[in-house]
Amino acid sequence: MCLACRPLGRRAFCAGALTLPLLPGHMRYGLEEPVLRLTPTGGRRVAVTLDCCPGHFDPRIADVLIARKIPATIFVTQIWMRQNPAALALMLAHPEIFTLENHGANHRIPSLGTARIWGLTPAATLADVKAEVENGATAVQQATGRRPVWYRAAGGLYAPQAIPFIESLGFKIAGYSLNADEGASLPASLVAKRLSAARDGDVTEGHINQPLRASGAGIAAGLAQLADQGVRFTTLDAAC
Ligand SMILES: [Zn+2]
Repeated sequence: MCLACRPLGRRAFCAGALTLPLLPGHMRYGLEEPVLRLTPTGGRRVAVTLDCCPGHFDPRIADVLIARKIPATIFVTQIWMRQNPAALALMLAHPEIFTLENHGANHRIPSLGTARIWGLTPAATLADVKAEVENGATAVQQATGRRPVWYRAAGGLYAPQAIPFIESLGFKIAGYSLNADEGASLPASLVAKRLSAARDGDVTEGHINQPLRASGAGIAAGLAQLADQGVRFTTLDAAC
């Protein structure tokens, strides 16, 4: 189990942190992409996380999660929940599988800038970031009855100064260590290969909101392969 889950500098590590090397975060567009890992167990324990940005719902992935009893942490936006009530109800009906966390109210990227990145509207000020994070949390709480503890930014990217600010609001930053689908942009075979190679301690990231893209088939296949390999799955909440 995790000994602690605490921020180190600008990067969040879920770990007995002193036992792990400090993994560098990535920088994209001058923004930070934090790395999050679980404490290694000596076996093969993986936390599956999937994002519901705007968009729809991918039953290919949901069917595998439910059939193989794979718990997953799902990052939902307020706008996605408004647009997908049936999918939200499905997830709420399987609380042993789906744990809902906060992906923001309107999928605005906390870049503290004005440029659009990957078509995402920026949260240009700390006040914008606060509204995005707190309104997203309120929406999750209204849907689930439980206050979310994790926040993942749109695009997984943050202005460096946004990270301690979001933590000061009471949320843990949900980084990841294995980006399986690069924004649901990769072909299925490559997504399955990346995901099925998850190692002990990995926090995987992908998308469950793009049912018409090939990437989702790769997420479903990769999850099934991990289950076949005997991987032990955990949620972020259970691990940290
Ligand atoms: Zn997203």
